[in-house]
Amino acid sequence: MAISRFSRRVLGIIGLGVVFPATLLAGLGIYLSLRISDVVTAQSSRYNLYIGQQVAEAFEQELLSSLQRSVAPAENVARGGAGQDGILAALAANTGDFVSPHYVPLDDLAGYDMLLVEHQPLIYARGSGDHAGHWFTGLLLRGTDGQVLGAGGWWMDPGRFLARQIRPVFEDRLPQNARMYGGIESTRGLSIRLIGPGRHIALSPDPGYPRTAYLEPLTGPFDGFSVRIAATSNAPVVWASRFVRLLVLFIGIMALVLVVATFFGLRYTVRQLELAQIKSSIVSNVSHELKTPIALIRLAVETLEMRRLSSPEDTEKFLHSISREAMRLNQLVDNILDFARLEAGKKVFQFSPVNVVDLVRDAADSFRPRLDDQGFRFEVELPAELPVVRGDAAALTQCVLNLLDSAMKYSRTRRAVRVVAAELGNHASAPSVAISISDRGIGISPRDQKSIFEKFVRIETGLVHDVKGAGLGLSLVDQIMRAHGGHIELKSTVGEGSTFTLVLPAARDAPAAPAEPQAPEQAAS
Ligand code: ADP
Repeated sequence: MAISRFSRRVLGIIGLGVVFPATLLAGLGIYLSLRISDVVTAQSSRYNLYIGQQVAEAFEQELLSSLQRSVAPAENVARGGAGQDGILAALAANTGDFVSPHYVPLDDLAGYDMLLVEHQPLIYARGSGDHAGHWFTGLLLRGTDGQVLGAGGWWMDPGRFLARQIRPVFEDRLPQNARMYGGIESTRGLSIRLIGPGRHIALSPDPGYPRTAYLEPLTGPFDGFSVRIAATSNAPVVWASRFVRLLVLFIGIMALVLVVATFFGLRYTVRQLELAQIKSSIVSNVSHELKTPIALIRLAVETLEMRRLSSPEDTEKFLHSISREAMRLNQLVDNILDFARLEAGKKVFQFSPVNVVDLVRDAADSFRPRLDDQGFRFEVELPAELPVVRGDAAALTQCVLNLLDSAMKYSRTRRAVRVVAAELGNHASAPSVAISISDRGIGISPRDQKSIFEKFVRIETGLVHDVKGAGLGLSLVDQIMRAHGGHIELKSTVGEGSTFTLVLPAARDAPAAPAEPQAPEQAAS
């Protein structure tokens, strides 16, 4: 049973009032957390880039100071006017971190490159032949009157040099760098690696946070090598990103819980409202329905008791009226009880083979007096035999009676009811039995044809106010038919009349129209 449009609107507003701000807040929370995480990540990437550049510079400075330290004797010798051999001998005496000495006279310097480190020209060139894999690195040497003689220096293995210098660069030179904020603190939380041909040197075992890692390529005599700078796995940026991930997950779960809780809360409220509505419908519809036959019976009994009736025909008329109202009461009480059982899921159907011809004939015969009373033309068209169906005879009889009752109630001037039972189905489909009850009453608009099978639904036509009803009859018929594996069909035109058809599957392997019904079996609906 549907709750009122107003209640539905109120519940919708409550639902939206919770779900909309919750999703908005969750979305905003997630967006802002991600933005903050992005800013921290970008900051960390920039810092790693800056450190990478500082490290690259520091390696060049380290090379320059090594060269300056080692070349000093050769410089002195050159200034003293020594020749190439003297210079070479002075270089050889102080090889230091390098491999072997080498002197390049001024005329041969054309193929060599120059790098300015701290405004000092550093001469370098890639080695070949015997010196493949090595680089020449040296400084300019001047003669007695200050003129440049050439470049004096050494062949160097760049990988070895970098490997030896990486720790001093990172631990001493960088913190001492005046441009680095925070001294030793500036390199805390950083993972540094040297990557080059055939070499991979890690200063700490921590691989670092790859998302903000930065690879700075080295140049000059260190060409082919790169320094990778990354935040260590417990650096603030990593904690921030973990925290943001947790926060986003938490916000997402909370929003989901809120939405699901609202959904179930509203569903529960709808159910409660429906139940409240069912209760009030039962009280208003059913009590009204019960009162009318009881009042009529009381009136008839009182009249009979007072023996005020003049003729036996009158007596007969009152007894007839009592019987008719009692039958109506009985049908109503049956409907209410069955409805309550079906609602509680406690209705038990007694299934047995049913002879539809007999069932329809009996139901029609028992209803005929009521139709006759109201001046209806009543036609019953039954074949000699029909396939047997398995069903609860009492429940199926109740279906036929409910439909006959409706046909009678919703007819105005054209008073004719027709009952037809027939076999349906062909070779392709399983056989079934159809029982149609037609009237030439007010009819039902296409819009209402679905809803009338819902409980307590009564169509707002002029007749509803005159015709008694609890809105249970069709809902019960529908539920009973489903429990039997069948269904109910409706064809109706407003102002023309309606035909309700009960379709029941024929029992498999059952003989047509058995003479005697067999012992009943039980089956829960
Ligand atoms: P009730 O008759 O007690 O109101 P029902 O479940 O039998 O409840 O019917 C539901 C509604 O369907 C009725 O109120 C009526 O508006 C409509 N209805 C049922 N049967 C017919 C019919 N044969 N012709 C026209 N309208 C019908």
